[in-house]
Amino acid sequence: MKSTLLGRNLFVYALVASLLTASYGGAAAAAPQRSSARPTRKPAGAAAAQKPAAAPQAPAPLAEAAPFVNKVLPNGLEVIVLEDHSVPLVTVELAVRNGSFTEPPELNGLSHLYEHMFFKLNRASLLGEAYIREIDSLGIIYNGETHEEVVNYYFTTTTPNFPTAMRFMRDATLYPSFDERWTAAVRAQDPGFYERLRQVVEQQFAQEREVVIGELDRHESNPYGELGERMNERLFYKYPSRKNRGGNRQTVRAATTDMMRLIQSRYYVPNNSAIILTGDVTPAEGFRLVEELFGEWKPSGKDPFVEFPLVEHPPLQKSEAELIRKPVANVIIQIGWHGPSVGKDDAATYAADVFSFILRQPNSRFQRALVDSGLAAGAGFGYYTQRNVGPITLLIQTTPDKARAAVRAAYEQVAHFDDPDYFTDEELESAKALLEADDLYSREKLSDYSHTISFWWSSTGLEYFRGYLKRLRATSRSDISRYLKTYVHGKPHVGVAMLSEESLKASGLTEADLVGDAAAAPAKAAATGR
Ligand SMILES: [Zn+2]
Repeated sequence: MKSTLLGRNLFVYALVASLLTASYGGAAAAAPQRSSARPTRKPAGAAAAQKPAAAPQAPAPLAEAAPFVNKVLPNGLEVIVLEDHSVPLVTVELAVRNGSFTEPPELNGLSHLYEHMFFKLNRASLLGEAYIREIDSLGIIYNGETHEEVVNYYFTTTTPNFPTAMRFMRDATLYPSFDERWTAAVRAQDPGFYERLRQVVEQQFAQEREVVIGELDRHESNPYGELGERMNERLFYKYPSRKNRGGNRQTVRAATTDMMRLIQSRYYVPNNSAIILTGDVTPAEGFRLVEELFGEWKPSGKDPFVEFPLVEHPPLQKSEAELIRKPVANVIIQIGWHGPSVGKDDAATYAADVFSFILRQPNSRFQRALVDSGLAAGAGFGYYTQRNVGPITLLIQTTPDKARAAVRAAYEQVAHFDDPDYFTDEELESAKALLEADDLYSREKLSDYSHTISFWWSSTGLEYFRGYLKRLRATSRSDISRYLKTYVHGKPHVGVAMLSEESLKASGLTEADLVGDAAAAPAKAAATGR
């Protein structure tokens, strides 16, 4: 649907956008930020606004996990209900474990193309069911998004229209126009009608292919889109398609409706999907309606992730760098590492979030060394939670005259991350409290929080999500230290900079600077750190 393609790496976009916003006081940010695409709490450290620093005392827990209830139907469909009657609105969301993490090069972009086809014709619209005729007048807001590890679709509507929205979701999910399982009956009955129908479907498919290609073009012509892409290509060098959520132009161009059926049969099965209901709906009502409408959805009998396992992204063999020349005004520098994977090292994922939040605070040592010092207009460090290797990213926005010094200072900070005095106990506790507060704020808008639930459901599973705040609270210094030792310190990484030809000359920035070779030389440790 509408520009679901933002970036291969949402984290970087949000971070770039936040840096630009921070430095230009809200002038139109160059990065195409789309807040609804961002898992609300994820990635830690990526939110645009800096919140006021918390009180320095160790705070009491602010929030418990969102009080959602869930149930798995006999066909494997997970139903999640988060009830809140404060506003007469309901959001109905479908989440499917699909996205670029399931895509080898020959399928790269098909999750995305499928997403575009989702709101096109389906059985109800093709057969002219009565409810479809009024759906446009019901004020239902809908959209879809393709991410690396989830594809989600959602409708938000007023309470009386909830059953209609549910019905439309059912018809779009179970009976898309290209699905020959239901069109076979039409064909048998009226071959002429079937033929016309097929032509309409093929036409619509050809149109959406062009729409997706247009999105890919726009994405690539955006310098920040390219920055993220180049980082991913180097960081995930063996299987870059798995991190390329928009897709590959050639693959999309060559796609046929047969491939939509392939995606449907592999991934659009109840045992690989969830329905999330938030807002003015009770669990009893929600479960009943989902069972009534989605009970007929046939499970595949196979777990797609057993049949088509995720790839193992091999670790980087050595650090590497790239200077990308683009006519941009400033210098954007990004350093990336392979971070932890959910399901393999959950403890490190919590530690990563807490640590990112410590660094994000305006009075952190990191911000003081890079931003207060005047070396950078903005700086961030974050981790993007993923099942299959979430990247850790350090980002700096600066000017040509300060670029070298800023990179050196950044690597010096990295070298000190694990020092016992790098952050205080107060900073540690504040970061946890702020993360909890963040979760509470994001629950204010349930239509967006539905996407957060989708994101976690797909990448981490619900139990991780349910225990998230508790586990954050339990994160200790030694957890953070282990996270840094395992994923950051002395680990191969990728440094990329985007700058203009003139900036490059003026800055004297080199690839060696970008990988931190200069900083690796015996540094005068405490000289600039504090
Ligand atoms: Zn799209």
